[in-house]
Amino acid sequence: MGYDITKNYIQHGNARSGQKMVGPLFITAHDTGNPGSTAHGNRNYFNSQQPSASAHTFIDDKYILEIIPLDEKAWHVQREKPKDNQMYGDDANDAAIGVELCYGGSIDFDQAYSRYVWYFAYLCDKYGLDPGEKITGHFILDPARKTDPENALNQNGVSFNQFINDVKRELKGKGIASSTDDGLLEKGDKGDKVKQLQEDLMEAGEKLPRYESDGDFGKETEDGLKAFQSRHDLTVDGIAGPNTLEKLKEVIKDMAQQQPNESHKEAWEWAQEKGLLNGKDPRKPITREQMSTVMKRLYDELKK
Ligand SMILES: [Zn+2]
Repeated sequence: MGYDITKNYIQHGNARSGQKMVGPLFITAHDTGNPGSTAHGNRNYFNSQQPSASAHTFIDDKYILEIIPLDEKAWHVQREKPKDNQMYGDDANDAAIGVELCYGGSIDFDQAYSRYVWYFAYLCDKYGLDPGEKITGHFILDPARKTDPENALNQNGVSFNQFINDVKRELKGKGIASSTDDGLLEKGDKGDKVKQLQEDLMEAGEKLPRYESDGDFGKETEDGLKAFQSRHDLTVDGIAGPNTLEKLKEVIKDMAQQQPNESHKEAWEWAQEKGLLNGKDPRKPITREQMSTVMKRLYDELKK
């Protein structure tokens, strides 16, 4: 089965620079080292305290909570440590997603662990990473100072190797295919929902000339989406959330009904009244020769 991913990003500051990440080339597994602290509790802490440390995602027995966008850097492994560069050719802070397991206290370990395993499998699927090679632990990168997530796993009878094997099994199984999210579509997403979005954007008149509806949310889709959002007075963030998807449906429906957009309705009716346009195809572009005819009609009208 799949789990919901909740995206609730912290504000910019020491914990979230907004700098873009390379890759991701690998994933670093952590635990919070703070038994009983929940995903939302951690989010609140990083959002308000803005320490010079952070991770992308916190997972407890109820939530998979992304607090930093996955294409931005988080600060989850000390930069001086050489191991990440040796193993992956890049610093974890520049090229790895950091995922924290919340444990202890009243957190149900089995529930949290299932989500943790599923989320690593989801990330490996999303970014084409081999779990056996591209998942590491904080304790591996910084053995002198860190024991996570091995410590939290061991406390509950799970070895790090077993964790990796569980991710592999999850990735092979059907879990990923039924993965769900919070309904936000954004750059980096892939699949049928993205394809549908691209088709809808084109139907609504936006141009995706190079990739069309390839099911891969890249820069062209983002630009098309931003153009749509700007044209329809939505927040221009290049992320398709409920408001944007709702507006898309509305615009497509309007077009299907051959109705002019609300903001052009008055002028459209005036043009019919004056006999400048024939009243057909309000959303279709006009050619230069048609434009000449319209101008001549207007000129003749003014001459009267
Ligand atoms: Zn850690």
